[in-house]
Amino acid sequence: MLRTFFLYLARQRRLERWLMGLPGARRLARQFVAGETLPEAMAVVRQLTGVGRLATLDHLGENVGTVEQARAATEDYGKILEQIARERLRCGISVKLTQLGLDISEDLCRAHLRLLVERAQQQGSFVRVDMESSAYPDRTLALIAEMRQSHSSIGAVMQAYLYRSEQDVRRLLKQETKVRLCKGAYNEPPTVAYPQKADVDANFLRLMRILLSSGLYHSIATHDPRMIEETCRYASEISLPKDGFEFQMLYGVRRDLQQQLVEQGYRVRIYIPFGKEWFPYFMRRLAERPANVLFVLKGLVH
Ligand SMILES: Cc1cc2nc3c(=O)[nH]c(=O)nc-3n(C[C@H](O)[C@H](O)[C@H](O)COP(=O)(O)OP(=O)(O)OC[C@H]3O[C@@H](n4cnc5c(N)ncnc54)[C@H](O)[C@@H]3O)c2cc1C
Repeated sequence: MLRTFFLYLARQRRLERWLMGLPGARRLARQFVAGETLPEAMAVVRQLTGVGRLATLDHLGENVGTVEQARAATEDYGKILEQIARERLRCGISVKLTQLGLDISEDLCRAHLRLLVERAQQQGSFVRVDMESSAYPDRTLALIAEMRQSHSSIGAVMQAYLYRSEQDVRRLLKQETKVRLCKGAYNEPPTVAYPQKADVDANFLRLMRILLSSGLYHSIATHDPRMIEETCRYASEISLPKDGFEFQMLYGVRRDLQQQLVEQGYRVRIYIPFGKEWFPYFMRRLAERPANVLFVLKGLVH
């Protein structure tokens, strides 16, 4: 219930305006968000890559409503790629297609995505296309497949809570597309997604095994110790070397586990969000864990 409630709040624009105006709210969001500006985010990327992590930068923003906003987001991502190349950082970008204009026009979004993928390809970087709610997988996967025909610098995300994901995974593997596997962060009806956590977890493990056995380099994105343990066990069972895949975790979540995995020789990439549009992202993180809500309530009271 708590999860559903916070995912509902994530879409409430009035609450967003109110919360973002509260002194202290920004400071609380900083637990999960690396700052509002690119220099702040780059400082975090430098610090984390300096201690053996890989990184991917997310310039927060989604469901933009105007061509100008979509163009500005694409230009910002261009600048991020430029900075990554200039400093030769082990960092890619994570983009949401609704931020590049998918809700406005598929052609507009395609043009923006192409610009970023071409640029990433030239400089040996990588564009990961985040997966949004279940209104978007068809269009998202079609655009990725189109780009993938001529570029290797693009990858997809699969959400284990969707019934359709196994079919999608098999299609992506035929196109030799790299996949980030996660559980899924949106509020989905039982017609499209497993309502029970146990079923999501079982599907996550099933998809993880398919991905790791594929011979391609994939990313396992979770903070769940059981999923991580089972991934390590399966990789070892099939003799997949530790650099044959990577774990991914969110900035500010389970830093202890991130450190442990690096010490054990695994690759760990940190998903680093930054920017002024932190509200929906922040609400999704609260939805994932009641302890985070208590932390925020205490902060607001103080
Ligand atoms: C790198 C990355 C990229 C992602 N990209 C997408 C995407 O494109 N689309 C999408 O829908 N979702 C995405 N997600 C979010 C994902 O779908 C889940 O909502 C999120 O990762 C929580 O699921 P979990 O696997 O960590 O396990 P859960 O089942 O939520 O939690 C299991 C355990 O993990 C630990 N844990 C989980 N969350 C937290 C937390 N916030 N703080 C402290 N401990 C925690 C706790 O021990 C908890 O008991 C991404 C996640 C990561 C890590």
